[in-house]
Amino acid sequence: MYKWALNARTALDSWIIDDNVTLIGDAAHAMTPFLGHGAACGIEDAVVLARALKASDTIAEGLKRYQDARHERATFIQGESNNNADRMQGQDTSLFGLGEMKDEESLGLFEYDPRTVEV
Ligand SMILES: Cc1cc2nc3c(=O)[nH]c(=O)nc-3n(C[C@H](O)[C@H](O)[C@H](O)COP(=O)(O)OP(=O)(O)OC[C@H]3O[C@@H](n4cnc5c(N)ncnc54)[C@H](O)[C@@H]3O)c2cc1C
Repeated sequence: MYKWALNARTALDSWIIDDNVTLIGDAAHAMTPFLGHGAACGIEDAVVLARALKASDTIAEGLKRYQDARHERATFIQGESNNNADRMQGQDTSLFGLGEMKDEESLGLFEYDPRTVEV
């Protein structure tokens, strides 16, 4: 029962260490799998990080632009995935909480494009 526990995380304040190292993917925003968006978010991070570094004069500037562009969205998805865990374990036994479920469509997650988002 406990070997494969899923641990819900809350957002880190910063993903940047010493202005020259940053976190991406689950290291930055580990997610429960109730929205199916953890890996997608890691790929988005990589695309935006590459663009932010290319657009910047220094590593520090690039990492800051990356974090500024990504933190709000990743935190939102992380929170909604955790919320879905609670919804799936709802008290409504006829739906098992599924009536309250949200997915990528209802949250508008597919409207985001990491290739064009401002960095
Ligand atoms: C049950 C389940 C279902 C999921 N379904 C979906 C889905 O449908 N869609 C989706 O988008 N996401 C899904 N996810 C989430 C997705 O799997 C993760 O968000 C994604 O794998 C994170 O990728 P990552 O590269 O950031 O981290 P990881 O995939 O965890 O990769 C980190 C790697 O680093 C290695 N490592 C760790 N420490 C060291 C070290 N010291 N030295 C060298 N290597 C090290 C690890 O072995 C691992 O290979 C699901 C997750 C789970 C658990």
